[in-house]
Amino acid sequence: MSTELLEANFPDSDQLGSPPDVAASNWVVMKFGGTSVSAAENWSTIANLVRNRLADGLRPLIVHSALNGVSNTLEQALQQAANADPASTLLGLRRQHYELADALGLDGADILNDTFAELERLVAGIGLLGEAGVDVHVKVLALGELLSTRLGAAYLEACGLPVRWVDARNFLVSKDGQRQSGDRAYLAATCDFEPDPKLGDQLSAGGKVILTQGFIARSPGGETVLLGRGGSDTSAAYFAAKLQARRLEIWTDVPGMFSADPRHVPSARLLAELHYDEAQELASTGSAVLHPRCISPLKRYGIPLFIRCTSKPELSGSRVSAVTSEVEPQVKAICVR
Ligand code: ASP
Ligand code: MG
Repeated sequence: MSTELLEANFPDSDQLGSPPDVAASNWVVMKFGGTSVSAAENWSTIANLVRNRLADGLRPLIVHSALNGVSNTLEQALQQAANADPASTLLGLRRQHYELADALGLDGADILNDTFAELERLVAGIGLLGEAGVDVHVKVLALGELLSTRLGAAYLEACGLPVRWVDARNFLVSKDGQRQSGDRAYLAATCDFEPDPKLGDQLSAGGKVILTQGFIARSPGGETVLLGRGGSDTSAAYFAAKLQARRLEIWTDVPGMFSADPRHVPSARLLAELHYDEAQELASTGSAVLHPRCISPLKRYGIPLFIRCTSKPELSGSRVSAVTSEVEPQVKAICVR
């Protein structure tokens, strides 16, 4: 049953240049950023967005980030673990997650205790060694997304939605090319995103809504790797490409991509329609809305991207596809680095 939540329509993907398989796909990937998943009031919107997809006969796969600021806090805890006392930082992380859990009517300690225990174990190990190897660094940062998605899945389940929490590392595998050497192979890995029909079968078995983490993947050797800071957008794009999803929805705290940073340039215009190449340009030159690596998987398979604001789902935001109505070449945007 569709909900009362007022949402802007999504144009059909075949009108946006998608090939027939993509346009007819039931899969929709929905990515929610750290600010979106940190506010308790957004979670009822997220539940309703998911219900609306189900009512439309679609299969949602949700990818989400760590809570707001948590990746930074984990980096701070890593530094403190090596040469100071991380105790109050760790306590702050517990508090942040438990407060959100409380606001969502969930028992945070019960849901997250094991994951926090793992964090404390890793941090204690760093204290003993006096340093964190990159493999441990990555394991600690990965816990941000593992924690937040545990809460997200528990909330949606409590709302009566059939949810299956999956570990993104079982599905996204980094490339082990020579170009990804040393620490970058751990901290800013890239993954294969060839269409994978078996993945769709595997994830649709059981008929549940899939919820997974952004930012994390595994290496061919089975180690945890990260996709680079801000990389959850790219996780979502990889899933969309592998599933040949009909679209990727990126739900964030701003209503789309702008011609300039609206915080600095009051006359900045919302860019309602962008070509993949324009979005790529903006993402690569410092617009903070999209991770630069998220465009190419979408462009390769003609999967449209919609950038929308979680707290204002009635706005149509920005859409990125191979089709734009503007014909004149023009300066679309200005970014400052
Ligand atoms: N949590 C990660 C970060 O803050 C990934 C993301 O949110 O995109 O960089
Ligand atoms: Mg981001």
